[in-house]
Amino acid sequence: MASRADQRLVNICLHGIGRPARPMEPGEDAYWIDPSLFEQVLDVAASDPRVRISFDDGNASDLALGLPALRERGMTATFFVLAGRLDRPGSLSSADVRELVDAGMRIGTHGMDHVPWRGLSDASLRRELVDARIAIAEAAGTPVLDAALPLGRYDRRVLDALRREGYLSVHTSDRRWARDGAWLQPRFSVHSDDTPDSVRQRVLATPSVIERAKRGAIGLVKRYR
Ligand SMILES: [Zn+2]
Repeated sequence: MASRADQRLVNICLHGIGRPARPMEPGEDAYWIDPSLFEQVLDVAASDPRVRISFDDGNASDLALGLPALRERGMTATFFVLAGRLDRPGSLSSADVRELVDAGMRIGTHGMDHVPWRGLSDASLRRELVDARIAIAEAAGTPVLDAALPLGRYDRRVLDALRREGYLSVHTSDRRWARDGAWLQPRFSVHSDDTPDSVRQRVLATPSVIERAKRGAIGLVKRYR
């Protein structure tokens, strides 16, 4: 019989690969990784059946570097696209998004303007959760069922709104292992100063009981605040 531990997933989140062809947001450079590190992280991921890969922000490097490396390894990923950056220099075009779909990749939404969804007015939240989703679905030619929280920020109101809109899964940046099929999917982001070893230790190694309790408590606070 399968135990709970057998259903653990480890979600690894990537952002840009190489150098961005658009101005970066403050602090964003910590999330752009060298192509060589990217390849090495994918090799680590490919050897661990618990790992799921996703890409945030809809950077042009998703298609230029991400897709070929995934294909080489027979892997798939979910790409959380920003509707407000579609067809802009340095970001995926609508045709690029369609190409990812045709290659068997899944497309999700990361919203419109890359702003935290916490504390938005009702109108702005609608723009992020509804309008962005429609625009991305149009580009992808498929329904958009999954969302990733910009900058990892959320609270109960954001989660309630996502539930009301019928999203099948919501991806956070809470640095915890996930459960297969759960609505909330915590993820680990890869940083520019990571190495294959740091990813193995920080992400894939079994966390201590204390570390697990600490991470669980952080998620609990965010869900109910
Ligand atoms: Zn993002």
